[in-house]
Amino acid sequence: MALAGICRSDYHMVAGELPGYLPMALGHEGIGIVETVGEHVTSCKPGDHVILSWIPACGTCRYCVSGHSNLCNLGAGTLAGPMLDGTFRLHKGDADIGQFCYVGTFTEHIVVPDISVIVIDKEYAFNPAVLVGCGVPTGIGAVIHRAKVVPGSTVMIIGCGGIGSNIVQGAALAGARMIIAVDIHDFKLETAKKLGATHTVNATRQDPVTAAMELTWGIGVDYAFEAIATPATIAQAVNALGKNGTAVIVGLASALENEIPISPLSMVLYQKTLMGTLYGDSQPRNDVPNLLAMYKAGKVKLDELVTRTYKLDQINEAYADLNAGLLIRGVIEF
Ligand SMILES: [Zn+2]
Ligand SMILES: [Zn+2]
Repeated sequence: MALAGICRSDYHMVAGELPGYLPMALGHEGIGIVETVGEHVTSCKPGDHVILSWIPACGTCRYCVSGHSNLCNLGAGTLAGPMLDGTFRLHKGDADIGQFCYVGTFTEHIVVPDISVIVIDKEYAFNPAVLVGCGVPTGIGAVIHRAKVVPGSTVMIIGCGGIGSNIVQGAALAGARMIIAVDIHDFKLETAKKLGATHTVNATRQDPVTAAMELTWGIGVDYAFEAIATPATIAQAVNALGKNGTAVIVGLASALENEIPISPLSMVLYQKTLMGTLYGDSQPRNDVPNLLAMYKAGKVKLDELVTRTYKLDQINEAYADLNAGLLIRGVIEF
């Protein structure tokens, strides 16, 4: 492994907010070099630079063949512990150690399924290319593939960290005319401006829904993306919508949260849509190389997204910084 990204989703396991096998090697955003391959592996060879996908794509289930490999049926076992063949590859003494999403990128060396590996061109620096494993396709994909934002739209993004900042640049790519970035940390809002935000709202000083209404002359926004995944902020996204608007839940919520306080009446009277998205409905095997090529072409920004690098033994500090709101993205450097 060369680098691994610090994403909030792993912390759900630490906090007991996601059910899963324990002990588990966490981490799902990562980049590295193939050292050796099993006898039937054809997708990569020793020496290849690879980004890991946190959903394996079998290529044959109905979701894979219908253009939604992010929903591959093999994704169902990502928190179960063992690898796809039912065996464990990590052990400590007699104890088997699971691998988060079949990868577990917070490890110096990993054994992964070949269908979790995406070979990339060697011209890309590991930092920042590592971010194209999770944050970038999830954020940009939520805009382009899931919501299908059209040019001229008005868009609000609630939460401008590792996912939300990529939603901001996705909205800019889609040609949105108004991109309202919401966060409680001013430095994240400053980064959002560099990525294309036209307006910023610090939610500690201004209510996001009121701001959305004021900025759109009382109409509400066409699209609202929620990248924090708390019931209160999801409700804000829905309430910020205008007629025929679409709200998208992008952040991974705690399994302990199961109610969103929204008005069913407004859903009908305003003909609103509330949708979720996994991995931004991206197809990693296509989108990962494509997003890197877009970075090379100057269409996608990556360098602005890495706030800080850490060593593996600083991982608790990295998560403390993430939870304190100090990071757009932190990365572990092996
Ligand atoms: Zn992630
Ligand atoms: Zn599949």
